[in-house]
Amino acid sequence: MNESKDAHNQQNYETPEISSLEHEKWELLQQAIQAQHERMYIENELKKQQQEIKKLQQKLAEMRRPPLIIGTVVDIIEQENLQVRTSGGPQFIIKIPEKIEPQSIKAGTRVAMNKDTMALVRVLTPSKDVIVRGGEVIEKPSTSYDDIGGLEDQIKEIIESVELPLTKPQLFKKVGIEAPKGILLIGSPGTGKTLIAQAVAHHTNATFIHIVGSELVQKYIGEGSRLVRELFMLAREKSPSIVFIDELDAIGAKRLESGTTGDREVQRTLMQLLAELDGFDPRGDVRVIAATNRPDILDNALMRPGRFDRIIEVPMPDVKGLQAIFKIHTRRMKVSKDVDIEHLANRLNGHSGAVVKGVCTEAGMFAIRNDRYTVKMADFEAAVKKLLKEPHEGSRPGVMFG
Ligand code: ATP
Repeated sequence: MNESKDAHNQQNYETPEISSLEHEKWELLQQAIQAQHERMYIENELKKQQQEIKKLQQKLAEMRRPPLIIGTVVDIIEQENLQVRTSGGPQFIIKIPEKIEPQSIKAGTRVAMNKDTMALVRVLTPSKDVIVRGGEVIEKPSTSYDDIGGLEDQIKEIIESVELPLTKPQLFKKVGIEAPKGILLIGSPGTGKTLIAQAVAHHTNATFIHIVGSELVQKYIGEGSRLVRELFMLAREKSPSIVFIDELDAIGAKRLESGTTGDREVQRTLMQLLAELDGFDPRGDVRVIAATNRPDILDNALMRPGRFDRIIEVPMPDVKGLQAIFKIHTRRMKVSKDVDIEHLANRLNGHSGAVVKGVCTEAGMFAIRNDRYTVKMADFEAAVKKLLKEPHEGSRPGVMFG
């Protein structure tokens, strides 16, 4: 009887105490697990924040870094030193740092240097320069032959002299003739010379590299010829390609006996262009097209066989041509039925395709000003008056769209 009472007391005594302690222990364990998780989370967060701080510090350091100056290597001295001319003019002798491969540097290479110490920081890639200095590279221009009005004969000629050598070079091989190396488009401003060059690049899937001659005339000696060299390097890299040099007269004018340093520099650029033309394969996949509206002042050396030996004249459009150009530029416009293209073409007789484009854009502007989507004949009439600077009520002589 006593024994069973003891057992009963023990059970009574142990159960609530132990179970409450057990429960407390379990709760503490849960808290410990929770705290462990929180610690891991905080550690992760800390890592993230530290990375963010590092990134911001790097950005800040980059912002604080003084700008680099550009120089051109003039000579390599004893394999480890460079004679560099800075873009400001003065020349320095600097050491090639270990991290830069000496083979990547030649005379003419452009380098970036620390502004204060003149230490060489990096070697610049050549092709960027051409684009940065006013050149334009279009992988595949969207202009096609259908976008050119009234120049059927010129298109035929460009197909023969540029498209066929690129797309069917074997034809020339079989017949045993060389394709013309360079094509010169001559004609007044705004007659569609650039359009023709773009369209031929479109139809041959060639990269279109456009540079304006005046961009090749540089202030510092040797810069222009280097740009020409880089232009052709880029063209070979991107081949098949079409190099289009607009305003060729800026570098290709007749050479004078006595010239200033500036004239001599332009001549050096021209000589480099001639050397590039002489040096490349006529059946290769780089074609050169140049344009000028001053063929009379071009140096004869440019027109010798094997250089710009095919000349295509791009005339001012006649009335039929103007009509065709009007149709092209109104293709995407909503024009009302009263628009008489024949009449408009007659009105613009003697003007270029660029003027037609300007008239169409201006007519569209008149419609917008009057809250209309449809362009009427009256808008075109007003646009013609404005662009030809004929007096028109309430309007000032306008700016022409190119
Ligand atoms: P520049 O000698 O001034 O460089 P350009 O002869 O190269 O002139 P483009 O740039 O080809 O002239 O033409 C200027 C604009 O005029 C073109 O964008 C095009 O819209 C229009 N244009 C000129 N001629 C034609 C044409 N025959 N057909 C269609 N559009 C034309």
